[in-house]
Amino acid sequence: MTRRTDWDVVVVGLGALGSAAAYWASRRDGVRVLALERFEIGHSFGASQDVSRIIRLSYHRPDYVRLAKRAYATWAEVEAESGTRVVFRTGGLDVGPREKDHGVEIDLDAYVASMRAEGVPFETLDAGEVMRRFPAWRLGEQHMGLFQPDAGLADPSRGNAAHRDLATRHGATLREHAAVARIESTAGEVALHLENGERITAGTVILATDSWANDLLAPLGAHLPLTITQEQVSWFTPRVDPALFGPDRFPVWIWMHEPSFYGFPTHGHPGPKIGQDVGGREVTNATRTYERDEDAHARVMAFLEAHLPGMAVEPFLTKTCLYTLTPDRDFVVDALPEHPDVHLVLGSAHAYKFASVLGRIMVERALDGSSPSEPELGAFRIDRPILRDSSPVRTFLI
Ligand SMILES: Cc1cc2nc3c(=O)[nH]c(=O)nc-3n(C[C@H](O)[C@H](O)[C@H](O)COP(=O)(O)OP(=O)(O)OC[C@H]3O[C@@H](n4cnc5c(N)ncnc54)[C@H](O)[C@@H]3O)c2cc1C
Repeated sequence: MTRRTDWDVVVVGLGALGSAAAYWASRRDGVRVLALERFEIGHSFGASQDVSRIIRLSYHRPDYVRLAKRAYATWAEVEAESGTRVVFRTGGLDVGPREKDHGVEIDLDAYVASMRAEGVPFETLDAGEVMRRFPAWRLGEQHMGLFQPDAGLADPSRGNAAHRDLATRHGATLREHAAVARIESTAGEVALHLENGERITAGTVILATDSWANDLLAPLGAHLPLTITQEQVSWFTPRVDPALFGPDRFPVWIWMHEPSFYGFPTHGHPGPKIGQDVGGREVTNATRTYERDEDAHARVMAFLEAHLPGMAVEPFLTKTCLYTLTPDRDFVVDALPEHPDVHLVLGSAHAYKFASVLGRIMVERALDGSSPSEPELGAFRIDRPILRDSSPVRTFLI
């Protein structure tokens, strides 16, 4: 007979994904939920502390487009229950060279095909039309844009707080400064050993520890070929009319070329924001710094000079943050084959928009054995060949 565990669900990590999982587990009647965070709740040592992340339906594969649709619906439920607005629609621009350079990874045609396949409305704009509608941009004839009206930003400072507040309101226990050192799993019970010597048992565990994932996978005999990079984002006071960078005139955007940049209208801080996707150097949690990388900054400034000259000034704020990348940039949403009561979620540095739906899916999988999103999860298996390859080909730009 299985002994009653201390908790039914224990979530490890209270970043974006863990906070969402704690909330969706707490909504289940009679389910005892504990969430453990190694640092202070809301710290900025990981990947989820910011005021804006792009949310969009335009993706390179239909499974992501369908998952994104459920992500919007799930955020809407969180907004309705919390009374907190998380998603701000601004429209979105996938912009860049019309012709695909040989060897450049980002394939705009795949975005067009995926949105068409899933019935997502969008417009194809030539450079002139982009500049006419969004005058902050400077483009040449060789450039074009895909405009999708539902895109926008999700605000982590609001989304994370909403998930945590609601989880607590539904009876979950959220503990900070509670680092898990090791996990053991036997049939029907998972034991978590904390760094403070405590031992806690759970029916099921959800691991949402992003760049720290391998620390807890190792004692369970698992390892993933993850790449951690130190990324940075900067905010600027435009040297032209700031209204050109307001949410009504400056949609979120992604430069669909290498190097790939992305950006936001003014939100949360008094000016527009830009970052380079996978522009940072490889680090570990121990070697990462909070200093601006001047080479990465120079790339951003060169891009701004060329295409968004109104922003090409010294930024008033730069923030560093960690990407944790799988080699194919696909998520991991799966139970450990050897430990079916231990579930892992990894967002491969593009999951904030999916945070609430991925938290929900983890709970559906852990408590119901499957999720309505199963058709979208096939590519996220932990035992896919590339994750078992010790030196996989890495394709980070999608
Ligand atoms: C610069 C930047 C820009 C991004 N832009 C976008 C975007 O535009 N759109 C988008 O959708 N996504 C974007 N992302 C990705 C997105 O932010 C991440 O995928 C998401 O935030 C990951 O959340 P997480 O909860 O998995 O990770 P984290 O926030 O890193 O949380 C992991 C948590 O686990 C805790 N933890 C680790 N080990 C332990 C332990 N042993 N015991 C207890 N707790 C532990 C950590 O302290 C941490 O709080 C961006 C990310 C970055 C860095």
